[in-house]
Amino acid sequence: MHEEYPYQEVYERFRFKCAYCDLDCSLDFETWFRANLAIDHIKPRKHGGENTTENLALACHSCNLYKGSIDCNSIEEAREIVRRKKAEWAH
Ligand SMILES: [Zn+2]
Repeated sequence: MHEEYPYQEVYERFRFKCAYCDLDCSLDFETWFRANLAIDHIKPRKHGGENTTENLALACHSCNLYKGSIDCNSIEEAREIVRRKKAEWAH
């Protein structure tokens, strides 16, 4: 299926770094491979989020899972939610 969003632009903007936990995947292949970076909609599509550059962030696999389809309006808000959920699960 054809991806409608500016995929490459997002990778370049975040420089292969997770927008939520700052995991830097540009360092080595192993990190990049394990991170399984994905494009995340900060405001999920089911909550009306669009495929615009401003609404897209790069997220590693675990951050992507933790954030899920929680409705966020900014990267800062999403970072906070992911951070909190990871802390909860660490206990
Ligand atoms: Zn992450």
